[in-house]
Amino acid sequence: MVCCDGCYTARDLASTRASVHLVLRSLILAVAGNPTVRRLVATAPVSRYVVRRFVAGESTEQALAATTALVADGLAVTLDHLGESVGDEAGAESTVHAYLELLERVKADGLANRVEVSVKLSAVGQRLDEALALRHASRICAAAEQAGTTVTLDAEDHTLTESTLRVHAELRRSWPATGAVLQAYLHRTLDDCRALAVEGARVRLCKGAYAEPPELAFGAPHEVARSFVRCANTLLAGPGYPMFATHDPRLVAIVGKRARWYGRPPGSFEYQMLYGVRPAEQRRLAAGGDTVRVYLPYGSDWYSYLTRRLAERPGNVAFFLRAVTAGR
Ligand SMILES: Cc1cc2nc3c(=O)[nH]c(=O)nc-3n(C[C@H](O)[C@H](O)[C@H](O)COP(=O)(O)OP(=O)(O)OC[C@H]3O[C@@H](n4cnc5c(N)ncnc54)[C@H](O)[C@@H]3O)c2cc1C
Repeated sequence: MVCCDGCYTARDLASTRASVHLVLRSLILAVAGNPTVRRLVATAPVSRYVVRRFVAGESTEQALAATTALVADGLAVTLDHLGESVGDEAGAESTVHAYLELLERVKADGLANRVEVSVKLSAVGQRLDEALALRHASRICAAAEQAGTTVTLDAEDHTLTESTLRVHAELRRSWPATGAVLQAYLHRTLDDCRALAVEGARVRLCKGAYAEPPELAFGAPHEVARSFVRCANTLLAGPGYPMFATHDPRLVAIVGKRARWYGRPPGSFEYQMLYGVRPAEQRRLAAGGDTVRVYLPYGSDWYSYLTRRLAERPGNVAFFLRAVTAGR
């Protein structure tokens, strides 16, 4: 809308910013999908400098060192072995081995009460065969149980949502604490929250990080935020254990208020944030008595993870380009 003197209203500016943000996000994800760009970025020395901000290291050893430091600061951790959409059974098997090795170390290092693992089903063969992914994920869940901890299944793009929720339901029959991730940008998610707001269910609610079609997902940031609040209310009202994965200061404040309104004490829900994003806020919330879990990715297959972090916040692309021009 244009005011009588011809200037734009605050609402116009907000909606223009929202559209620019959406276009930029889709553009960054589309460009990042190009094989030549992938090869260039993945091999450029500067990328390693940028990656260090978001990824704890390539080895299990480095991941555990970063985990131990976070735990010492009063934070909980979910460890993600990077990699997704494996193209063959060998790739899926190698992901399973990485998690089995990791879980043994989590147990041996006495970290199990503060550390769980996040798994992408596409990294254990979901795009090849759902039954194969279920078998592999079951092995990881069994190892997590042995170690004294749990698994959360990450949410990927919408083509995998239905299958991921099916596998999650199946895993919960043997390991009821297996967590699911629901993405507030999907239109279907409020219904999924209602279905999973049940005793014993652990649900991570996030905005969603993929480029999704408008017929399936909210696009404008304010619509996604509103959906997040509706979903948060549903999860907080139920008897499950919600995990609110957001750095958005307004949503963090709303979740805190709504949790108090629903009579939820600290410890009956948690906040989650990404490694390298708003670390001071992570510590502030933990110091106030809330449970805060840091999502800590490690491994050499960081490209797709990094591009989603760049797309979420186009300012990170500037960070990347500054590093290029500084010759790092
Ligand atoms: C623990 C955790 C697990 C997640 N798991 C999944 C998953 O399984 N599936 C999925 O689709 N998505 C997942 N996400 C990503 C999520 O969907 C969002 O894309 C991401 O969290 C950005 O949304 P936001 O809620 O933080 O809000 P935004 O509005 O994007 O960000 C709010 C503020 O946080 C800071 N910030 C946010 N992102 C970044 C960044 N990349 N770099 C620097 N600063 C940043 C900025 O200060 C920004 O202004 C996860 C996020 C978290 C925190």
